[in-house]
Amino acid sequence: VPPSSAQKADFAGNTIQNKLLLSLSDEAFALVRPHLDFVDLPFHYILRGSGDPVRFVCFLNKGMTSLIIATENGNSAEVGVVGKEGMTGAPSVAGLTRTPIEEMMQIAGNGLRIDSKKLQGLGQQRPELHSLFTRYAVLQGMQIAQIAGCNRLHSAEQRLARWLLMTHDRTEFDSLPLTQEFLTILLGTTRSYVSIAAGALQKKGAIKYERQSLRIVNRKRLERVSCECYRILARLTMGSV
Ligand SMILES: [Zn+2]
Repeated sequence: VPPSSAQKADFAGNTIQNKLLLSLSDEAFALVRPHLDFVDLPFHYILRGSGDPVRFVCFLNKGMTSLIIATENGNSAEVGVVGKEGMTGAPSVAGLTRTPIEEMMQIAGNGLRIDSKKLQGLGQQRPELHSLFTRYAVLQGMQIAQIAGCNRLHSAEQRLARWLLMTHDRTEFDSLPLTQEFLTILLGTTRSYVSIAAGALQKKGAIKYERQSLRIVNRKRLERVSCECYRILARLTMGSV
């Protein structure tokens, strides 16, 4: 069955922008649709804490989720992101109920939530669903591996550029409400390094950085500064670039 290009909406009439759901055939989507709950996802909302069982899968429509690893001493680092191209709770499609990864909204938005056991059941009923979602889950794992390498091997400036491009692809933001504390976690580095990285990007005319917000002024320049990880990650999970 060829994927449908027709517009899709949930039962409440909310237009679906999630690319996984949009790529389903009408028949497969009809199976999933009755089980989707539209949910608002505010800034810093925790979809699932580290170690909590995976009860739900959420297909993001808008906004962006950070996948986070937290250490016992209270430090944390972002190891992946999910936007409208993907879904949270991905390990559950392979039958896994535990993961050390925390899922937290980094950019407020909304999504369509489904019980993870229900989705697994639908996957057994219809192989098209199972293969699409397991494929995404494996790609998300590759994304996490690439970001682990990036965090270890590339400079704070390159990583900040890479993150801003990934976020821009998912949310098309004009201005991001970013604090230095957040960037410190994101880059896994100290405040002074963050200021240097953001300052360098600003000097190159790629961003405008103020105390509480950050704006992309020239995407092309940002792409030139970013490490190759951006292109690799875009190809993996966005199917583009
Ligand atoms: Zn990199």
